[in-house]
Amino acid sequence: MHQSISELQERLLEISDLGYAGAVLSWDQATYMPSAGAPARGRQRALLSRLAHDRMTDPALGRLLDKLETHAAAWPADNDDACLVRVARRKFEQAIKVPAAFVARRATLSAKSYDAWTRARPANDFATMRPYLEQTIDMAREYAGFFGPSDRITDPLIDRHDEGMTTASVSALFANLRRHLVPLAKAICEQSPIDDTCLRGPFAETPQLEFSTRVIAAIGYDLQRGRMDKTHHPFCTKFSHNDVRITTRVRLDDLGDALFSCIHEAGHAMYEQGVEGSLVGTPLGHGVSAGVHESQSRLWENIVGRSRGFWQHFYPELQRTFPAELGSVPLDTFYRAINKVSRSLIRTDADEVTYNLHVMLRFDLEIELLEGRLAVKDLPEAWRSRMQSDIGVAPPDDRDGCLQDVHWYSGWVGGSFQGYTIGNILAAQLHAAALEAHPEIPTDIAAGRFEKLHHWMRENLYRHGAKYTPDDVITRATGTDLRIEPYVDYLKAKYGELYAITFP
Ligand code: ZN
Repeated sequence: MHQSISELQERLLEISDLGYAGAVLSWDQATYMPSAGAPARGRQRALLSRLAHDRMTDPALGRLLDKLETHAAAWPADNDDACLVRVARRKFEQAIKVPAAFVARRATLSAKSYDAWTRARPANDFATMRPYLEQTIDMAREYAGFFGPSDRITDPLIDRHDEGMTTASVSALFANLRRHLVPLAKAICEQSPIDDTCLRGPFAETPQLEFSTRVIAAIGYDLQRGRMDKTHHPFCTKFSHNDVRITTRVRLDDLGDALFSCIHEAGHAMYEQGVEGSLVGTPLGHGVSAGVHESQSRLWENIVGRSRGFWQHFYPELQRTFPAELGSVPLDTFYRAINKVSRSLIRTDADEVTYNLHVMLRFDLEIELLEGRLAVKDLPEAWRSRMQSDIGVAPPDDRDGCLQDVHWYSGWVGGSFQGYTIGNILAAQLHAAALEAHPEIPTDIAAGRFEKLHHWMRENLYRHGAKYTPDDVITRATGTDLRIEPYVDYLKAKYGELYAITFP
């Protein structure tokens, strides 16, 4: 049996290394590659994904799993090998259900659609994107069809990113949260707006990057096993247990852009760096789901990185970094500026209170598109009317409306937006559980000590990788399944104080 497990690990390590090699090529393309290298790079990346797909669908891998499963039934359920067999089976089944020809067709559509979007968005040209989006929706339906009949067409799409969640469970969670968020956002937006001009600078690039690097090193991102580079759209990527990288971008007229995107990506990276080394190189060797991953970026970015205590520690150093710009700006003015709530058009720039309303809008519209209740030609108008009713502001054009996010124009519609809001909800639940174990965490943070919170996350979440299902790991860490109460309490306490409002 030991020999069969070793054979399984060897096969999975090769598949995993092909994936990591592809990630190096993507990282290079997004950071340093001259743009003329794009066609060859596209071909090289496609080759690596094809090789990985071939190995993942090898009938010999299926036979090996069959053999191991007859024994695994007798192993303890939380045994590493038992978890490996279970997760490898899930990946194998997912891979063999999707024909290679479909994967290739989708990759082609995705590349063409993305390329068209990079020009159509600045030109405010939805008409060009319409046929691409129609084809993408058809392909998402086709993909869902590979997984047999499901209650809702979006179920297999959601399960791909957030195992165990369904259209019905996410809709119920969102409806519940929405009942709290809509009145909260309304009450806040009726107050006089916070002045955030202190963040507009201009702030020189090099000191911004140096300060951000000191911050992420202090919270626990290990730069001996990682690095940070510049790109257009920040992301985190992993090449091995000891090489987890992040990227960022800098805006001279917005101090928060690089700073909070660095903390956000460092949160993702700390999760990946904290996975038990023995699991890396297998399907257990990374964060378990989109929602759980996002809980770590949002925890460090918002709950920690936008807290008063965090800036009690870091603000004097930030003032020394930018004496002319911030030397005479009080801590409280800065703290209020980085937590300003407003009715805004762009999801990625949205504050903690309105952000989830942007996510719910996309989640609902993509279900309507996939279920055929909304035609692509009617999307711009549906977007405007939903923005007006939910957030209280409508985009003047499609550039800042339904063309703003890359997701629908890079090959997928359905199944990925819910992760952002699940992440926000779960970040607060995990933070509350860590504070119950260590009530001194906020005092520690105000003194610049992050180890206790980081250690709790590593012990209760990071080290497990994808060994347990998302539901299972959440229950193990917090004692209950996913619940919105800690998040709603967090928002009410923080923004009640900031805006001098008493929420019921
Ligand atoms: Zn993220």
